[in-house]
Order: sequence, then structure tokens, then C-alpha cells
Amino acid sequence: MKLKLYNSLSLQLEDFVPLREDRVSIYTCGPTVYNYAHIGNMRTYVSEDILVRTLEALGYKVERAMNITDVGHLTDDGDEGDDKMLLGAKREKKTVWEIADYYTKAFFKDYDELRLKRPNILEKATDHIDDYVNFIKVLEEKGFTYQAGGNVYFDISKFPRYNELSRMPLENLQIGAREDVLPDKNKKNPFDFVLWFTQSKFDNQQMRWDSIYGEGYPGWHLECSVIAMNAFGPRMDIHCGGIDHIPTHHTNEIAQSESYTGEKWVNYWWHAEWLIDNEGKMSKSRGEFLSLAYLKSLGYDPMDYKYFLLGSHYRRQLLFSFEALDGAKEAFAKLKARCLALDPPVKTSAYWKAFLTPMATDLNTANALTVLYDCLKDTELSSGEKAHAIRRMDSVLQLGLFEEKAIDDTLKEEIEKMVEERHLAKLDKNYGKADEIRDKLVALGVQIKDSKEGTTWEMN
Ligand code: AMP
Ligand code: ZN
Repeated sequence: MKLKLYNSLSLQLEDFVPLREDRVSIYTCGPTVYNYAHIGNMRTYVSEDILVRTLEALGYKVERAMNITDVGHLTDDGDEGDDKMLLGAKREKKTVWEIADYYTKAFFKDYDELRLKRPNILEKATDHIDDYVNFIKVLEEKGFTYQAGGNVYFDISKFPRYNELSRMPLENLQIGAREDVLPDKNKKNPFDFVLWFTQSKFDNQQMRWDSIYGEGYPGWHLECSVIAMNAFGPRMDIHCGGIDHIPTHHTNEIAQSESYTGEKWVNYWWHAEWLIDNEGKMSKSRGEFLSLAYLKSLGYDPMDYKYFLLGSHYRRQLLFSFEALDGAKEAFAKLKARCLALDPPVKTSAYWKAFLTPMATDLNTANALTVLYDCLKDTELSSGEKAHAIRRMDSVLQLGLFEEKAIDDTLKEEIEKMVEERHLAKLDKNYGKADEIRDKLVALGVQIKDSKEGTTWEMN
């Protein structure tokens, strides 16, 4: 079966044809680690995971790279506003490095709890400073840059396809058209963007590196072009991100990448729509926002939220409300109970094609879920066959539908061994070791109960 994917570059549903026959290269813009991710951010990562797993279900080997933005991202996606990392550091009275470390861990906690597969290539933006400088040097040699006021800028007048993705009317790109909005007087054109800052407007900028352009730090867009090209070379299949990245970030990524290589860079631009609330787009800069941890503190399971997301299409805006989440929670609990009540799996190919068809049609998870329910209702199929078919569907959706039963024997043995070791450590009064083992068990999702009769455990 072939995948049909909507391409933001052509505004069409296209047959997906990778550069290499059975391998797909995907780049994902990663999180800016200055605060917790909100559940809107996580919607985008859930949709990307569905893309990856659908490709894998269709037989492709997926190679995927993602950056962790720990430098350069200002509150405006262009060159205006405050430095997000500095904001985080100031808020919490920590260094930017501590902030980056803490929120990267927090991000992957959410990521794992949503059962998302980690990209095989994960790179921190700050680990590639020399690569950015070399990249800028090539752009400079090819005549795409200029220096003004101490900064190095990309000159969009040298790249006529600048509005290809954003479709911004050309007259809006004229010099001076938005001078009132973008006050950087060093720019020849307000849409030119910074590749290297030396004239930092932030006195307390902690992240600075020596370079041939002077001591400073890179513009935000560079990291994605450079990390993606390090991973895949000058061309790749799919570039993912939230829809908000079209007008500035992805537009600038294309301009610098294609100027650097002289050829087309990405074949499919894939964008996920926003999660919105009653006030509009959910955003971290608004101050208060919903995180996965907050939902959990209210008694929701990450899978309740994921089930809520999969009920709608990734290219539609989705309105978040607690009423809708409650509805999803209830439906998901019923669905999971029905799945767990099924007999042990009996091999069948039934429903696989029916399930894959909507998934392969621009990742229609809502229709795929309908197929899953049809399978449960089917009177022709045995309970074990249903279990097999739905487990296979869940290998793509990753809702953990059979999770309570899914503690396999090896894991069970390992847990039992750890519980025993902890018991012995306590007898030895080695409480440090006992606590260490308990922490490991908790990380595995094991809940331990100590009583006079001994220790019992269960999975959370
Ligand atoms: P950030 O950490 O702010 O760089 O954003 C991480 C990802 O989340 C990006 O791909 C954004 O486009 C995406 N994103 C930001 N806000 C939302 C939202 N409200 N709904 C869905 N995705 C979002
Ligand atoms: Zn990016």
C-alpha cells in the first residue's frame, strides 16, 4: 500500500515517493527547552509519531533526526523579542545550561509517557556551533550574506523563491514594507534574518562562542538546516513541524539550505495543526498553560489525552476542553476493558488492510479508530483473532490497549528479582541501596506495597 501525504509545498495530497526505495529520512523541529512542553506541543509530537509508525507499518525503514533548541530562539520566531532560554534562566534563577538540562529531561518524560518513539538522531543545538560557522562561511562565499551592526544576515533578495512555502505576497516582501513592525535598522530588508549575532541586545547573554564573525551566538533557524544535513546530506524526504513554523522558521530554513546546496532540499513539508483553547492557540509565552503533568495531577492518564487527539485529524485545529477530555477518558476506559477481556491472540490478517487504508490516506486516525471498533463488533471473528488484529493496530497507534496484560515473563522475573534484592538490602539495613532499587522499580511503572506479610507489587 502506498502512502498519500499532504504536502504544504504543493498544498496537495501527494503519493509519497521516497528518495531511496525503502528508507525514509525525516527531520523534526524539536522543543525549545526553556519551560515544560504544553499539551499543544505534545499534539504535534504525537502526530509525528503516527507518521513514523505508519511509514514503518507500510514497510519503510525510518531514519529520523530531531534537534533540541537550547540557544537562539527568541520569543518572536524571527529576530525580535526576548531570548527564550534567558527568560527561563531569569525566571528560575538558574543558568541557561541548567534550564536546558532540566527541561530536556522533562520533555522526554512526557514523550515517553505518550509512548512516542525517540528519533534515532537527537542533537542539541549548542553541540554544533562550529558547523553553523562553517555553514555561514559557505553562504558568505556564495554571496548570500552581509554584515551590518556586528551581525551576519541572510539576504533574501538573493533567493527569489523566498515565499515558495509561505506564499506571502511578493509586495509584502518589499524593502521597508514592514519596517514599523521589525525595527532592526541593520537589515536591508525586514525579512532578512540573522545567521550570527555578535551585537547581542541581551547584556546577560550567557551562551556565547568565539567565531570568525566575532564572539556571539547563532540565529535560531541554522540549527535545523545543519543538523538535518549532517544526518541526511543535501536532500531529504520529509520535514515536520507545527503549522506556526511555515511563515518564518521553515521559510528561512529553506532559504539558507537551498542557497547552501544550490538544489531542492526537502520533498515533503509536513505540518501539524494547532491545539487551541477558548482563547486561541495554546502557547508557553502566555504564562499559564496546560502540561501533561498537570493533566496527570488531575487524574488523567497520558493515554486519555492521546485517545482524545487521535479522534481528530492532524491537519485540523482541535479545541481542547475538559469536557472533551472527560469524554475521551470514558470511551478509552471502555475500549481498553474490551480489549483486555479478549482471548489470547490468534493470528489473522483480518482488518489490517482496512486499518492501514485510512492511515495511509494522510494519517486519518479517526477513521482508523472506527475500523478498530468495527473489528471489536465483528461477529465473524473469534475473540483471539480480534486480539491479534487490534494488537497490530495498536503497534501503530500506541495507545497501550493491552498494557495491563503486557507485562511479559522476562519483565516479571526481573521485577521479582529486584523486589527480592530490595528486601535483602532492607534486612541488611542498607537503606540507600533499598531506596535505589525502589526508584528503579517506580521508573518501570511498578507500585510496591510493604506490609507485615511482606511486599506485594503491581503495575501502575
Ligand atoms: P517549541 O518548543 O515552542 O519550539 O514548539 C515545539 C513544537 O510544538 C513545534 O513544532 C511547534 O510548532 C508546536 N506547537 C507549538 N504550539 C502548538 C499548539 N498550540 N498546538 C500544536 N503544536 C504546537
Ligand atoms: Zn526547525
